[in-house]
Amino acid sequence: MQQPASQTYDLLITADILLTQDADRRIIEDAAVAIKSGKISALGSRSALAHIVAKDHLHLRRSLLMPGLVNAHTHISMTFFRGLADDLPLMEWLTRHIFPREKHLTAEIVQLGALLGCAEMIRTGTTTFQDMYLIESAVATAACQAGLRCRLGEAIFAFPSPAYATPQEAYALVREQAACYKNHSLIGIAIMPHAVYTTTPEILTACRDLAHELDLPMHLHLAETIEEVQSCLDMHNRRPVEYCRELDLLSPRTSIAHGVALTDAELDILALTRTCVAHNPRSNMKLASGVAPVPGMLARGRLPGLGTDGASSNNTLNMFAEMSACALLHKVHSMEATACPAQTVLDMATLGSAAALQWPQLGRITPGAPADLIALDLDSPNFQPLYNPVSHLVYAASGHELSMCMVDGKFLYKDGAFVSLDYPMLLLEAQKLKKWVLDRRD
Ligand SMILES: [Zn+2]
Repeated sequence: MQQPASQTYDLLITADILLTQDADRRIIEDAAVAIKSGKISALGSRSALAHIVAKDHLHLRRSLLMPGLVNAHTHISMTFFRGLADDLPLMEWLTRHIFPREKHLTAEIVQLGALLGCAEMIRTGTTTFQDMYLIESAVATAACQAGLRCRLGEAIFAFPSPAYATPQEAYALVREQAACYKNHSLIGIAIMPHAVYTTTPEILTACRDLAHELDLPMHLHLAETIEEVQSCLDMHNRRPVEYCRELDLLSPRTSIAHGVALTDAELDILALTRTCVAHNPRSNMKLASGVAPVPGMLARGRLPGLGTDGASSNNTLNMFAEMSACALLHKVHSMEATACPAQTVLDMATLGSAAALQWPQLGRITPGAPADLIALDLDSPNFQPLYNPVSHLVYAASGHELSMCMVDGKFLYKDGAFVSLDYPMLLLEAQKLKKWVLDRRD
């Protein structure tokens, strides 16, 4: 019997395996997902959904369908610095290679760098990212063009940036961005003071008040290195976590990037205040920052999110690489093979990151959740044989098994090609980026 039009779905996707990341972590074989108006409407076994009428069908043979991954911390436009200056101490890298070029940034360069980053994320299964950079309006434009979901914030410093001359101008800019993207389906805004060592107590409290006034999340780098802890002690006579707690910055509204140099007492403070953490294992390893005490966070009932940081300190934006690094790092660091098991790491890259972005509907396939989905080719050589899909996602996948990527019910990658981006054109434009970077040699 024909169903009334109101019960007709936009799309029905079938797949051999559906990994839901729902509360029971259900994995359904021979499954189907129905989508309507960009949201998951129904899911289950294919036979249970056999009655469904949809305008379109996508039969993903020999595929695993799962929620898109969520990157909890990045600076997406920094793709233009990828591989420019590796293997250097953090401060030398920043002051000799990055900062001198960043002061010349333009909206066009930021947007182009972001588009390259979007292409990489789409191609490796990331559907949402949290971004902090300069001239973030250009990142928003790129994310909309690519069709990716994004929580973004202008990096707020005590010194001028290419986007503003004073912190007051930065706050005005953030207000404009918040008004511009209020109720936008793909873009959310956050207040993002860069870090303790690049701001002042006045800036941090102004950011806190702005976040409360506009009811927006906050995100900042915190406790990334021992050197940061020492400089905070020298300047404020407090370690970074204590300093932020006294400024009333730590709350469920706030997510911190890194959280490497933390004591047990500081882990307690972060857990008590329900502050979220975005863990960036590859960046922390590459910059020799240290190892974030993730097992200590998990032991306190806190699930961190997972992020890549910028492509200049990783050097990829690939969340599959990040998951593998996360699991391996914490095992060898704790000398416990049971540390950070695969399901926990997958939870970090989906549910934990979604919580860090204050976008709790993401990272799962449940009725009502946004249709942000990816599919992986189960016939990939590195997936043979298949006993446990979660194990393969964390320990065997490279991300290039991806065969489909969708955000908000719209295809971004399908049948081996980008849908939302003109990738050949983007490759040509990327040559401009390289020239721009090299021409700004100081
Ligand atoms: Zn960062």
